Amino acid sequence: MSGTVHIIGAGLAGLSAALKLSARGERVIVHEATAFAGGRCRSYHDATLGMTIDNGNHLLLSGNHAALDYLRDIDAEKHLIDPKAAEFPFVDLASGQRWTLRFNEGRLPFWVFDSDRRVPGTHATDYLPLAKLLWASSGKSVGEVIACQGTLYRRLVEPLLLAALNIDPPQGSAKLASAVIRETLAAGGRACRPLIARDGLGPTLIEPALARLQRGGVTVRLEHQLRAMRFAAERVEALDFGGEAIVLAADDAVILAVPPYAATLLVPSLDAPTQFRAIVNAHFRIEPPAGQPPLVGVLNGTVQWIFSFPGRLSVTISAGDRLIDTARDVLAKSIWSEVASVAGLAEALPPWQIVRERRATFAATPAQDAKRPGAATQWRNFALAGDWTNTGLPATIEGAIRSGNRAAALISDRTAASGQ
Ligand SMILES: Cc1cc2nc3c(=O)[nH]c(=O)nc-3n(C[C@H](O)[C@H](O)[C@H](O)COP(=O)(O)OP(=O)(O)OC[C@H]3O[C@@H](n4cnc5c(N)ncnc54)[C@H](O)[C@@H]3O)c2cc1C
Repeated sequence: MSGTVHIIGAGLAGLSAALKLSARGERVIVHEATAFAGGRCRSYHDATLGMTIDNGNHLLLSGNHAALDYLRDIDAEKHLIDPKAAEFPFVDLASGQRWTLRFNEGRLPFWVFDSDRRVPGTHATDYLPLAKLLWASSGKSVGEVIACQGTLYRRLVEPLLLAALNIDPPQGSAKLASAVIRETLAAGGRACRPLIARDGLGPTLIEPALARLQRGGVTVRLEHQLRAMRFAAERVEALDFGGEAIVLAADDAVILAVPPYAATLLVPSLDAPTQFRAIVNAHFRIEPPAGQPPLVGVLNGTVQWIFSFPGRLSVTISAGDRLIDTARDVLAKSIWSEVASVAGLAEALPPWQIVRERRATFAATPAQDAKRPGAATQWRNFALAGDWTNTGLPATIEGAIRSGNRAAALISDRTAASGQ
């Protein structure tokens, strides 16, 4: 290809598209509105805590093959905590009970038949109805397909789907839940190891990608917000960055990798998700106690997951919309009292920070899922990417990276087909 591919947005979707295209020797320019790359997946220095934190704790699973390929391509797998086994410690704040869910490696779910591995209080037969989710038709919600009650639901299905879909599971799309279960639980323990960016999201997923792009001659223009696009019948003709307009040559192309609320302002009559769910994170500057696991699931509290990093304990609360208006200090105190009780630490509140991402992900309902467009558009030099496009997955790192790869392939294929 002799033209330039302009990628709008330097989140994971934009970066993965840029990496793929640059690896094929294509000329790429990335345009990012803000002063930093990474979008919803980034690290920054927090002055209150006096340390670098992530905008939100992010969990990958070992079955996220596109994300792992991306990390291999940028030589950043070494920044992950990758445990040898797929094990998830849980604490139930209501009963005080603690257990560890231990998946076996292969696809055959032996763990379900072993009371030391499965969820306490459940029987092997309780797991059978989960198979219904695997074949759920699109348009159905999780609540329409399985009974959202009982011990297995409360102790496994709810925490898993809440984290993966970022929505109260009964409202969630059964099709998206099915994709999550197919690629994790049903694929066996080798797809379920929890992977955490030990050194932070920036040093793991973003900075090595920027370094690789720079070595490949890709320009990343920060604080360069796309304001408008000019469309002709078959192609995008020009990009307007406010003070600067770029008229596209015949063989130039564009990948738009911005969130849906930005994309709908730029593309006429684009159908895209319009509803979102929040994620609340709380960060506490404190040395985790010896033996604190990297990740603990918490039930029957406000806290859902506790992540442990050097010098910091951090909490994730998915579908956290109900907490958006709670006073920050009230929230910090109540979250800390749960963390202290789980980790066996003093009640005294350590230095804290609350980060609330209001539009963390699109609302993974069947109706919103149906609004997700594919990568291809009616304009031959223009493709869409982003975790909200129709990847078949919920809004995740894996979905964002797959969407970027797919848009890059589409633009390359079209260019090859048109003989440019
Ligand atoms: C708190 C939180 C926790 C999460 N936890 C997990 C998790 O545990 N596991 C997981 O897999 N996923 C998780 N996610 C989801 C994951 O972060 C996202 O799916 C992923 O980062 C989305 O990447 P993206 O490139 O599609 O979009 P974005 O990251 O939103 O990137 C879009 C980029 O486009 C830029 N942009 C917007 N408008 C313009 C414009 N006009 N011109 C130029 N640039 C523009 C934006 O500034 C942004 O940098 C979480 C998200 C949040 C917020």
